[in-house]
Amino acid sequence: VPELPEVETTRRGIEPAVVGRRIRHAHVHEPRLRWPVERTLVRRIKGQRIVSAGRRAKYLLIGLERGTLILHLGMSGSLRVLPANTPRVAHDHIDLVLDSGAALRFNDPRRFGSLHYVEGDPLTHKLLARLAPEPLEADFNTDYLWRITRKRRVPIKQLLMDGHRVVGVGNIYANEALFRARVKPTRRASGITQAEAAALVRAVRATLRMAIRVGGTTLRDYVGADGAPGYFRQRLHVYEREGRACRRCGALIRQLTQGHRSTYYCPQCQKS
Ligand SMILES: [Zn+2]
Repeated sequence: VPELPEVETTRRGIEPAVVGRRIRHAHVHEPRLRWPVERTLVRRIKGQRIVSAGRRAKYLLIGLERGTLILHLGMSGSLRVLPANTPRVAHDHIDLVLDSGAALRFNDPRRFGSLHYVEGDPLTHKLLARLAPEPLEADFNTDYLWRITRKRRVPIKQLLMDGHRVVGVGNIYANEALFRARVKPTRRASGITQAEAAALVRAVRATLRMAIRVGGTTLRDYVGADGAPGYFRQRLHVYEREGRACRRCGALIRQLTQGHRSTYYCPQCQKS
């Protein structure tokens, strides 16, 4: 599943090839995505220039002169920039043919992705309007994390992964950030100290930034927009390392299950 770092990597990958280009044609070969692609979309975006390539949570926001394309990669989606005459392969559902001769091509085997076109402020669209703060933006900070953990009995890891509190902190990133902050994942959120909240904010940001820098995690067959695989996986400290030695202290990494998701931690480095 493409996580926030993969989506950000995709955004950075496509940005130089699409911004400033005009959409010559759009082809929707398969409109039956998570939500059907509106029939009028092709006509409404044709001829518009792409003015920006942004992101909110795991949505890519492709800004046009008169509106915005809101694209979600779903469970298995990917975007590639390639010559427009490149033959389609299975699950290539959408092409935006640009005036450069390139196409932005959306492939999605499981079709949980989506594409919408909106005019006006895209952040007021129903998919985006109620999203929690971005982990890499200023509104996710120590005060905020401190406030949302008060009186919460839920384990800190589950709170970090709650998309209503902060977006885009998937299982891998929550595990790694908790290791980095030296906080045991099963700790009750309300028991986190202010210093630990500060450490967690720094850890979440550092973990996501590192993943973005190395191009996402490539847990399955995901490749970045330029086709390059990610290398974040080689840098993991705890995720899927149960029974192996902690890179920091040598203790054996442990695994348990929280909310149907696997949790990994170092019993020595992470305070309970
Ligand atoms: Zn350790």
